[in-house]
Amino acid sequence: MGKFKKLGLSKPILKVLDEMGFEKPTEIQEQAIPQLLSGFSDFIGLAQTGTGKTAAFGLPLLERIDPSNKATQALVLAPTRELGQQIAEQLKTFSKYQEKVNVLAVYGGAAISNQIKALKKPVHVIIATPGRLIDLIKRKAVFLEDLEYLVLDEADEMLNMGFKQELDKILSYTPDHKLTWLFSATMPSEIKKIVKKYMDDPVEVKIDSKNIVNTDIKHVYSVMKRSDKTEALCRFIDIYQDMRAVVFCRTKRDTQDLAEELLQLNYKADAIHGDLSQKQRDRVMGRFKKNDLQLLIATDVAARGIDVNDLTHVFHHTLPDDESYYTHRSGRTARAGKKGTSICFINSREGYKIRELKKKLKIDISQVEIPAADDIASIRIEKWAETIAQTQQSERLNSSLVKKVNKMFSDLSKDELVEKLLSIQLDQLNLGSNKNLNREESEERRGGGGGRGRSGGRGGRGGRRREYGGKGRSGGSKSHRKGKGKGKSADSKGKKSGGKKYGGKKKKY
Ligand code: ADP
Ligand code: MG
Repeated sequence: MGKFKKLGLSKPILKVLDEMGFEKPTEIQEQAIPQLLSGFSDFIGLAQTGTGKTAAFGLPLLERIDPSNKATQALVLAPTRELGQQIAEQLKTFSKYQEKVNVLAVYGGAAISNQIKALKKPVHVIIATPGRLIDLIKRKAVFLEDLEYLVLDEADEMLNMGFKQELDKILSYTPDHKLTWLFSATMPSEIKKIVKKYMDDPVEVKIDSKNIVNTDIKHVYSVMKRSDKTEALCRFIDIYQDMRAVVFCRTKRDTQDLAEELLQLNYKADAIHGDLSQKQRDRVMGRFKKNDLQLLIATDVAARGIDVNDLTHVFHHTLPDDESYYTHRSGRTARAGKKGTSICFINSREGYKIRELKKKLKIDISQVEIPAADDIASIRIEKWAETIAQTQQSERLNSSLVKKVNKMFSDLSKDELVEKLLSIQLDQLNLGSNKNLNREESEERRGGGGGRGRSGGRGGRGGRRREYGGKGRSGGSKSHRKGKGKGKSADSKGKKSGGKKYGGKKKKY
């Protein structure tokens, strides 16, 4: 906390930060806050996602607002509604102990009339998405004549989303004397143009990419066939029982297909992508935040607004083309001082992509094996058994039925009955010893057969169609997974398999 004090922040703010558990400023905060608290220059802050940029501009902004002046003194532009709402929430929290500072978020996809009504009261800080703001200015609900601070947050994403014209327009409504603070993860040439056109000799703080690699993230990859990706994902989910993850796909279609597949297998997953209406996005995000969903399947753009602190994993179901996207994606985990794992799913021809990422990002990405069939079988069976143990007897049971079935089993001991049921369940899991996804892959890579023969005699791609798809899989695993949603109680009672080793290499996942 002492370190925040040294930056020059006031008591009411320090008190909130303490309550929020912010112990020390992040690098961008350390460098930006003193400058923004007292400086009279424009400002550019470049730092990766998840490095605390909101507080970097939000805290000094709140300190500089004059609550006795009823004019809108600050405008924060954000690319998406989620981001806008998150910024507004954070600013409201930060200003909790300050003399009344009014903060309001306005965005598209929600009734404009309510926002117009809310704007009738003095609002010191407006957080807005560009399109809606222009509407509101045109309807004379927002006045920017007295604006003193303009913050462009996630500027790169704003331009990616095609808001260039809107930005130009909004900037034309603002007075020349205002200060402009631009925050971005990257500095593409379009941003340089904006800087040149609209900013005046800005002070620039760049958190070097060497320093920004979040050392709390463990980077790993697994090699598999494309058709095994869903099963591999399920295995990682099963073995890491407290997982909360975002799975990145490249296309909207992929996110939807994968979410549907997972849903069928009784995982709590949903997709988020650019084609969803605002309402749909809010619903999905809301469920994810409430822990109603364990997995969010997202495209890169749609995931920008996700600020969830307790993600344990990020999956790259398909690798991004650009390494900066890799950083954005993995930056979704290991936030706020927690640990996280970023897992890439690649096929045997994509090894060079991992080498490139390692080199460009100066990170270590080590190979891990996909959890082995035997380990997974025991976890799935355990869950299946837990579900049975927890099941309440149905009201539809009738005594004659019970009697009849009991009679059929009368020659069986309890042990025998359990063994039989277990056998059926094991068969349905379809996880025979031949389903070591890693081995198949390595065999495939060696051209089949000729290797060290670990998978003995199954020539090359022979196994290709023996996948989990189809009835065998969903039928079998569905039943044991029914218990999944029952969540915590079952999970926390069971053994923690979080630290368990799997696979020949004995590497921890
Ligand atoms: P960015 O805008 O750079 O992507 P955010 O401002 O959204 O990052 O911050 C990421 C998360 O880290 C937020 O949940 C925020 O509350 C948390 N955070 C920010 N600064 C600190 C800090 N100094 N200590 C602990 N947590 C922080
Ligand atoms: Mg941000």
